[in-house]
Amino acid sequence: MSRLAVATIHLDALRANLARVRALAGGTRVMAVVKADAYGHGLERCARALGDADAFGVASIADGLRLRAAGHRQRIVVLSGPDAHSDIAEMRRLQLEAVIHHDSQLAMLEAERAGTPLRVWLKLDTGMHRLGFPAGRAGELHARLRALPAVDPDIVLMTHFASSDEFDNDFTARQIVAFEDATRGLPGERSLSNSAGVLGWPQARGDWVRVGGLLYGLSVALGKTGADFGFRPAMTLSTRLIAINRVKRGERIGYGATYECPEDMPVGVAAIGYGDGYPRSAPSGTPVRVAGAPAVLVARVSMDLIALDLRNAPDARVGDSVTLWGPALPVEIIAQHAGTISYELTCGVTRRVLFAEE
Ligand SMILES: *Cc1c(COP(=O)(O)O)cnc(C)c1O
Repeated sequence: MSRLAVATIHLDALRANLARVRALAGGTRVMAVVKADAYGHGLERCARALGDADAFGVASIADGLRLRAAGHRQRIVVLSGPDAHSDIAEMRRLQLEAVIHHDSQLAMLEAERAGTPLRVWLKLDTGMHRLGFPAGRAGELHARLRALPAVDPDIVLMTHFASSDEFDNDFTARQIVAFEDATRGLPGERSLSNSAGVLGWPQARGDWVRVGGLLYGLSVALGKTGADFGFRPAMTLSTRLIAINRVKRGERIGYGATYECPEDMPVGVAAIGYGDGYPRSAPSGTPVRVAGAPAVLVARVSMDLIALDLRNAPDARVGDSVTLWGPALPVEIIAQHAGTISYELTCGVTRRVLFAEE
């Protein structure tokens, strides 16, 4: 069986979204976060489309190497820094920058000799309690880092928000104050905001915003799509109808026979499933589009196939295009049905899906 699932990446949308981030963030510089293969959209193609970004943020040295190999000269920041001592030499060689969040990394840096200086982003924990030094240590750590021969003395001070997508949750306001208090008087640029920070917390722009989701047109704000904030979805996931069957009232469909036909009805079968990254958790009733007309998923998602209720798409034919998400069907809506967030869905598109650009 050939595979018909296609993820089409809209390069114009990526460019427009970067411009929109810049407009929202004022004069602040923009780090385009391209971790997890650019949230599943493809690292190289997205970095090319986002080539005007002031920096790229990656989760691994390997991704930094891919960006350098593609010719990008910008600053590239490895968002969790070195994991082993040998990583530091590699980062210095590739001129990648390191987020430093833990004493074990400080010890690695202290053992380094002078030479190409490593640029460092000092990550302070202001309440998320994932990565970061206690904010109260900012002064001490800043002085220690600046004294090291292997470290560039221009250190960026950063923190990360836990709940910035909840625009009326004052926990973010408290994180901002904690960061300001801890870093007051220290020289260097500041970086606080992720995508939701850019949307909801203008007082936290600092010198750098670190934006992922919005560049791909994705929102994590509850009940909102990227389009609600003026962003354009950068991915359409589509496939084709490979069968239409008339199924009798009372008959059941798919594994576990979870869906019972309420009447005699046309049931379509589309060539996509969880093996392509369409979420198995999507329940009956999740919307799709068949040749532009609205239809809904029924029964359990299987590895290669899904079943569709075609009662509202009487003109559907085998071979018709089926859209799972894209500009006409926000991935945030699908994520809501599937009990997850849009980021997980785009990141989860698997390698057997054909990627196309337009
Ligand atoms: C992933 C990440 C971001 C980007 O978050 P979005 O919600 O996608 O904008 C920013 N900063 C850090 C440290 C990250 O790990």
